[in-house]
Amino acid sequence: WQPYTTLSALLAYQAACQPDAIALSDRERALTYAALDASVLEVARGLVFEGIGAEDRIGYIGRNSLAYFELLFAAARIGAVMVPVGWQLSPREVAAIVTDAGLRLMFAEADVPKSALLDPAIVRSIGVHGDPLNHWRHGGSSVPQRSDDERDVVVQIYTSGTTGEPKGVMLTHRNLLRQRFLDKQAGLPWACWKGDDASLISMPVAHISGTGWALYGLSYGAHGIIERDFNPADILAIVEKECVTRMFVVPAALDMLTQEQAARPRAIGLRCISYGGAPIGQRLLQEVRAHFACDLVQLYGLTESTGAALALWPHDHHSADPAVLRSAGVALPDVEVRVADFASGALEPHGVGEVMLRGSGVMAGYWQRQAETADAIDADGWLKTGDIGELKDDGRLIILDRRKDMIITGGENVYPGEVEAAILEHPAVRECAVVGHPDARWGEAVVAYLVLDDDATVAFDAELLQEGLRERLARYKCPKQVIVTHALPRNATGKVLRRILRDAAATAGAQDAYCV
Ligand code: ATP
Repeated sequence: WQPYTTLSALLAYQAACQPDAIALSDRERALTYAALDASVLEVARGLVFEGIGAEDRIGYIGRNSLAYFELLFAAARIGAVMVPVGWQLSPREVAAIVTDAGLRLMFAEADVPKSALLDPAIVRSIGVHGDPLNHWRHGGSSVPQRSDDERDVVVQIYTSGTTGEPKGVMLTHRNLLRQRFLDKQAGLPWACWKGDDASLISMPVAHISGTGWALYGLSYGAHGIIERDFNPADILAIVEKECVTRMFVVPAALDMLTQEQAARPRAIGLRCISYGGAPIGQRLLQEVRAHFACDLVQLYGLTESTGAALALWPHDHHSADPAVLRSAGVALPDVEVRVADFASGALEPHGVGEVMLRGSGVMAGYWQRQAETADAIDADGWLKTGDIGELKDDGRLIILDRRKDMIITGGENVYPGEVEAAILEHPAVRECAVVGHPDARWGEAVVAYLVLDDDATVAFDAELLQEGLRERLARYKCPKQVIVTHALPRNATGKVLRRILRDAAATAGAQDAYCV
């Protein structure tokens, strides 16, 4: 049973049940649930005083902060929509989001220079120390109307554009609050969250992995510890000092944490690490298990599905069957999953095809993009994920790759993820991305970009790598070119931007190219 259906009601409920428990803290401040509820009311009044009303879009650009969550709950309270904008985006990308969303106000942390390009009339600069919203609070008597319809849009998150134009994904109260209800109903392991849990909010709030994860912890009455930056040494120090019990990280971040923990092991009291949002390599998974003695949960999902749609549970991580570990797990109880046959489009309960999802996490739609929304969600509510997957008879889903990243070489389909997994078995390779480059003979040629492991005990030999790959993969899947580079282009959540590698015939940072 879930006693609330909106963000405001969630806060009121927690404030009534456990007023003195810490709800959120950052490096500057800590607010109890009662204090957060009271603070949000003042900020909501401030927004109303500024002329903000229902369905108006207000933006936030800055690092993770308590002020962002005060704004989010305040917006939710008056029916306005919060648009968190990635502070790492270029000025042009930020301006595009501001225009697309039609932002009425943009709260910008003072140290984010991107706002310089924006219309000063909408920018509200806020500090990063003390109480940044101090000037925006209002003590007036007018009490803003609560939004109490769970179908109201509360957050608009722009997809990070790993494959194309950023689009505003509209998420409702129901989308964002569905999981706690599910856990209770289904008795899932996640239901083991307790009020004494301390959850780390370290992924950027402009992504579902930041905002969604934070709301998830708050719905349990847990303490959310907000971190501004992702520095692995600092993160592990915080985990130790603040007795963090749960965190969500993307695989790139998990890799950094694991290397840091391996170099300087700490006795930490983590109960569970949730990870996901991008494919994870099997070697990294083994390293994580070796260095962190806690439960692991893998999550698969999209911004458009409000994050988690499938999960690989802790017990699955102990499976002797490697196919289980290679999978993204099974659907959450409110999610249906199917694969759409490439030729007929028919939805199948197993086989290979485009992964389709249906359930209470599916977004309300893309902001002001009716055609794209209709293309993404069919009349029966099925969301096209753009991922190619193999759905097994037991309901496990193996993500093969993104549909747009599939390489067609000499008429054969190559899933980059399969080639990357084979390359990552080479002990000298730390990171890898496989893309198709335009090729006169093959249509597309398979090209692999590698980052070598500085600590590897084995020297890298491109010929040996190719030989090994030819034993594991069909000839047409083996890279025609292997390029060693210093780093792979990644977005703010650490996801490899294959599009950038594809667009460039060779990356500027490439050291050596081995043509075969
Ligand atoms: P855009 O949609 O604009 O390309 P994006 O890729 O960053 O941007 P997200 O919604 O953040 O959009 O990412 C969702 C995608 O991440 C999924 O479609 C899938 O390809 C990948 N993904 C998420 N979780 C997993 C997982 N557990 N394993 C493999 N891939 C995953």
